[in-house]
Amino acid sequence: TGIQELLLSRIRDVADYPEPGVMFKDITPLLADPAAFTALTDALAGIVERTGATKIVGLEARGFILGAPVAVRAGVGFIPVRKAGKLPGATLRQSYDLEYGSAEIEVHAEDLSTQDRVLVIDDVLATGGTAEASLQLIRRAGAQVAGVAVLMELAFLDGRSRLAPALDGAPLEAL
Ligand code: IMP
Repeated sequence: TGIQELLLSRIRDVADYPEPGVMFKDITPLLADPAAFTALTDALAGIVERTGATKIVGLEARGFILGAPVAVRAGVGFIPVRKAGKLPGATLRQSYDLEYGSAEIEVHAEDLSTQDRVLVIDDVLATGGTAEASLQLIRRAGAQVAGVAVLMELAFLDGRSRLAPALDGAPLEAL
């Protein structure tokens, strides 16, 4: 469709970043183009409405850039999920496996209620580890999962399969 072509045309491939052999998908040209950024924000806000989400969780750091304007547009709250050690209040912490080693993310649990349906937003779904851990945090906080929405899914890494159990039937939408 037109919007997919517009979005794709504003994503830059950067070879050998952050290490040799990796083709990094850089969204900064999209952010710099108001027509593309607005189209992306509107499309994500449509997913908020379709899924009945009451809160957005944005994943550090590009999930903050995409998720915050969507929250304002859709009229729902925004909750940052951050790398461990960055949030000042009482947190829930979740660790997850990386190719080499592991990582930890956190959320302020009191910002989520059992009434909430949460849509996770990020720029890129790669292995799915980060998104999976965020869904585990949302469920541990007692909230419901409305789904995961990303600009781009790197299908060859099959994050979709890794995410399926944590989604438990909720949608994964990749624009
Ligand atoms: P995953 O946990 O392997 O799915 O990696 C996803 C996380 O890494 C997301 O927070 C992305 O922002 C980031 N990421 C992985 N690959 C890329 C990329 O090619 N471009 C931008 N971000 C990426």
